Amino acid sequence: MPYPIIHPPQPPYKASLDDSPAYIDALSDVRISRFQTYDLSLRLAMLGDVAMIFSPNSLAWPPTFFGLIAAGLRPTLANSFYTPPELAHQIKDSRAKMIFVHPTLFPILIETFRVLGVSGRERVHEAAKIGHEWTRLSEFFGTGRLPSEELFDGDQANETALLCYSSGTTGLSKGVETTHQNVVSLNSAFFGYIDLPDAKTDVSGAILPFYHILLVVVLLWDFRFCLVPPILVAMSFHPAFDKYDMSTLKFICSGAAPLGESLVTKVLARFNRKGYNQLTITQGYGLTETSPVTHWLRGQDSIRKRGSIGRLLPNVQARLVDDDEKDIQPGPENSGELWVRGPNIMKGYLNNPTATKNSITPDGWFKTGDIAIMDDEGYFSIVDRKKELIKYKGFQVPPADLEAVLLSREDILDAAVIGVESVEEATELPRAYVVASRNDELLKDPKAAAAFAKAIQEWMRTKVASHKFLRGGVIITDCIPKTGSGKILRRTLRELAAKDALRR
Ligand code: AMP
Repeated sequence: MPYPIIHPPQPPYKASLDDSPAYIDALSDVRISRFQTYDLSLRLAMLGDVAMIFSPNSLAWPPTFFGLIAAGLRPTLANSFYTPPELAHQIKDSRAKMIFVHPTLFPILIETFRVLGVSGRERVHEAAKIGHEWTRLSEFFGTGRLPSEELFDGDQANETALLCYSSGTTGLSKGVETTHQNVVSLNSAFFGYIDLPDAKTDVSGAILPFYHILLVVVLLWDFRFCLVPPILVAMSFHPAFDKYDMSTLKFICSGAAPLGESLVTKVLARFNRKGYNQLTITQGYGLTETSPVTHWLRGQDSIRKRGSIGRLLPNVQARLVDDDEKDIQPGPENSGELWVRGPNIMKGYLNNPTATKNSITPDGWFKTGDIAIMDDEGYFSIVDRKKELIKYKGFQVPPADLEAVLLSREDILDAAVIGVESVEEATELPRAYVVASRNDELLKDPKAAAAFAKAIQEWMRTKVASHKFLRGGVIITDCIPKTGSGKILRRTLRELAAKDALRR
């Protein structure tokens, strides 16, 4: 059931379309203003269905994204590190009719068309749209203009606005149908609940890739400095941060992965010094499927509740359930799977009713696959993950993806991929357990086993995007633990990995 539409307080919107910079290119210092963003977006008028953006962050990105939405198209956002087979999966699955590609990614796109069996180079050139220089921007956006932007109101608010890709709790990446209302619901949730930056005086860093759903927070909401924990690790020790003037840094929000208390303490110790702004480090939690925020640790709670993901945002409800999907009595000792409900829950997975049904209950509860606890003041902490997803530095690594690639080799009979924790890098590292056809020989000869494992790691680097490299190693094993129905027992492998780590 779609939620009733709540109209958030309208910002003084025309008045805010002034000449103050909306986006700044860090390399060239070229700026586009709020009015220019609006104007360029409306020039991108065209009709169609799904349109892919395949580009690293660039000044052309926001007007392309907003322009597609204004024209009633659905942008699907592709990871700019994808290899041709990974990109081909998203093009096929999303049924993208047009592709906006950054010039540097052209060769990947041409190769992707070869993988897809699509010919017609001219069409590729027609699609070559995104430039990163201002001059190219004006050429590209042209002079045409939509008469006005379309209002996505009433029933249309529940139409799909964008399609990011996420593997959810299991399997390969799926298109997440985020509606207009899902995006706008953050407006009503954040307004008045947290301190928003001052658009006139504060500058936000847009470092995280725009193709991740966090773009909703970064591009639309200006969240000062949204980072992932591994970047905070660098901030805690890297000498580069002494070379530049960081004294104006006021606010960091971490997301996409667990943020340890000790890491926060280290970064604060380094940046909260004389002559510097008092730095606040806080964190948000959510998923692509929750558009993306459900929990937020407010600045004023960030010291007292360090390590927690904060409380539920307004309009969002939560439950903690056990393995039988029964509610548990929340408390600091009682963990359960976190289920959430609210106007920010995606419509479903694109063309995948089974996956949608498995992740959203008939009465609207979305199963996050994360294990959480809640304290008696309503502050949540994520303590474990039930789903198979691995996150490398905030990027999704669906194990099923890597297992399929490994099993395409004739010398691998069976494979399972799990995440192993790296405390130093504040991330998980994908590790493969494999049964090789030469297992008898390899299990007896540690040198041959090490050489085989290395060869597999190297080969994988030619097959998948860099965040999926098997940095956690390749282990040769005599069998992959599975349930009677053939499901990989990932928990058993994780326990094995934890014991191995202790032994070292
Ligand atoms: P994504 O859809 O790529 O944003 O990934 C969502 C997943 O990232 C969640 O289900 C969590 O497992 C993880 N995640 C996001 N934010 C946090 C956080 N603050 N703490 C712990 N895990 C997080």
